[in-house]
Amino acid sequence: MVVNLVQERLGASSMAEQVLRTIGPVVLLGPPGAGKGTQSKRITEHYHIPQVSTGDLLREHVRQQTPLGIEVQAVIARGELVPDHLVCDIVAWRLRQPDADRGFILDGFPRTQKQAAWLDSFLKFEFFETGKWASWLPIVIRIQVDYNKLLLRITGRRTCPTCGAIYNVHSNPPLVDEICDKDGTKLVIRDDDRDEVIRERLDTYERQTKPVAEYYDKLGRLVTINGDQSVDDVSAAILKEIDGRACGVASGTEVKGN
Ligand code: AMP
Ligand code: ZN
Repeated sequence: MVVNLVQERLGASSMAEQVLRTIGPVVLLGPPGAGKGTQSKRITEHYHIPQVSTGDLLREHVRQQTPLGIEVQAVIARGELVPDHLVCDIVAWRLRQPDADRGFILDGFPRTQKQAAWLDSFLKFEFFETGKWASWLPIVIRIQVDYNKLLLRITGRRTCPTCGAIYNVHSNPPLVDEICDKDGTKLVIRDDDRDEVIRERLDTYERQTKPVAEYYDKLGRLVTINGDQSVDDVSAAILKEIDGRACGVASGTEVKGN
């Protein structure tokens, strides 16, 4: 009985340590529709670190019609990239929130080489030189998916405006057509998921974001995961990667490149 209790406590505390240790920065790269949003949510739930999605942050500014939101809404609607300095300011603000102290997942950022270089120095100064973390080097994971499969995925995507759940009419449909399983809200197609915008977004990705992958690849920090597997298999591969490379605060060593 006592032994069981001790074992239970030990088990619980080592589980807590396992889950609540410092994870550090995780960058998820991949074209629109590669499943970055879905995977980010899963990583968030697993490690209890926040998802920082620049797309979501920008859309929230647009929804609230802040000065920034008004400035960027036309750019977003055209599927083009918001200027680097505006996006970097939002990210800096977000990463300084206390819930980002053990780590975070960047979803949709960096999208340009300039953003990647800015992120490196931001992380170095804010998290490493302050003694918060043993390393500032992000774990960079690229989810790779075949172009035609991407088109099918994006055109099938539906989101719930109430709870944010993501469905796909081809691969992950709701129980009732166009209705959220969780709260019965009518699902919507995001404005920038509409046909005419998609090609522009994929082209923008090709043109501007590929160099980001190359930037990290040259530094030996890029891990590529096959996004054509099931959602569960992609998650498992990502968690394995993070578990193997997350930076502990106590170790005082840098995360090694792969
Ligand atoms: P997402 O939801 O990540 O696909 O982002 C939606 C839109 O927000 C993009 O098409 C861009 O217009 C803008 N956006 C999001 N993240 C960035 C970023 N890192 N740099 C520039 N623009 C961005
Ligand atoms: Zn919902």
